[in-house]
Amino acid sequence: MSNTTSPFIPAASPATWLGVMGGGQLGRMFVHAAQAMGFKVAVLETSNDCPAGHAADHLLCASYTDETALKELAAQCVAVTTEFENVPAQSLALLAQSRFVAPSAAAVSVAQDRVAEKRFFTECASISGVLPAPNKTIESENDINAVPDALLPGILKTVRMGYDGKGQVRVNTRDELRIAFAGMNGVSCILEKMLPLAYEVSVLAARGVDGKMVVYPIAENVHRGGILFTTTVPGPNVTPECAKKAQQAALTLIERLDYVGVLCIEFFVLQDGSLIVNEMAPRPHNSGHYTIDACVTSQFAQQARAMARLPLGDTRQHSPAVMLNILGDIWFNGDSNDVREPAWDKVLALPGAYLHLYGKEEARRGRKMGHVTFVAPTLAEAQKSLHAACGILGIPL
Ligand code: ADP
Ligand code: MG
Repeated sequence: MSNTTSPFIPAASPATWLGVMGGGQLGRMFVHAAQAMGFKVAVLETSNDCPAGHAADHLLCASYTDETALKELAAQCVAVTTEFENVPAQSLALLAQSRFVAPSAAAVSVAQDRVAEKRFFTECASISGVLPAPNKTIESENDINAVPDALLPGILKTVRMGYDGKGQVRVNTRDELRIAFAGMNGVSCILEKMLPLAYEVSVLAARGVDGKMVVYPIAENVHRGGILFTTTVPGPNVTPECAKKAQQAALTLIERLDYVGVLCIEFFVLQDGSLIVNEMAPRPHNSGHYTIDACVTSQFAQQARAMARLPLGDTRQHSPAVMLNILGDIWFNGDSNDVREPAWDKVLALPGAYLHLYGKEEARRGRKMGHVTFVAPTLAEAQKSLHAACGILGIPL
């Protein structure tokens, strides 16, 4: 059932409740943005100690498939969204029987499955102008034997549940592919050709139930160990042609998905300048955190507007920005297990610093604990603050 065909539900006003599936940091920042507009927010999450739960007006502590809890969420809220990609699409479909759900179960299920996602990208290529990396689904020994040599070296990725570089193995040869697939515990995988990346970008777009669309400035992303390290906007490497092409592709794709809400699309720019579409996230995205402090409407406020069927907000960026992800590693002194609080006082003394911590009690290496965005009149000044912050926090540049 399409979200755009729900004529009986009136538009929400900020005096009403919005619901979120998932209790992570994206949910927390959504809660903050929605509350700032006057909404109350209910969060459904399995754990009662979660970043969004600490901020929500109501935390429903239950499994994502608990029908009683889903009915309660639907009854309380005028609209429901998801803050994480792997919410069971079935649960969204169930909620949609009685409530406006954005994005829809159908759109989320495409983004959850790398094979469906690549098929969608390929089907849209003639109108979007972008193709995904050459790839092949791997489910058996026969599939491995049938892999064309041109797909190697490649990256073997699980079809479902991968994030932050998890569920991925780089393989140079067919034998390495065999070993890597054997280590994936029998789950369906996809092999992608390893592409010569020049840099990575992402585009956030949003679409309303009325079909109106907006797009944010393109973001340039640096990953470390598969996890986003920094996002810089405007990206130092991004050409105007690349930005236009990626933004246009994002708008084409969000429309073709009949999507409602905020969608993030990741792209690769190859060394020859060509643009490849990598993956999409059916929600606000880590690379869009800069919008909180550098744009008129943050990605989270935009999600609240789309859900409430209010007009979408201005995506204009008012300041150049650099976002630094804060991982749990910096709570530890070198390799030791001694935990210490990073010197936030020194970071906050830097010009243009906005600190966002997600309220996670326990710092673990590789765990996303927060982010800092530096805004400044010029990108060079924002980058200067970033460099100083990395020095203070002991993050090698
Ligand atoms: P995740 O869901 O973990 O973000 P991605 O598909 O985005 O998975 O892969 C994580 C990172 O691995 C990418 O940001 C990119 O740096 C690298 N990567 C992924 N696929 C390819 C590819 N086909 N060629 C080169 N690098 C890749
Ligand atoms: Mg990715």
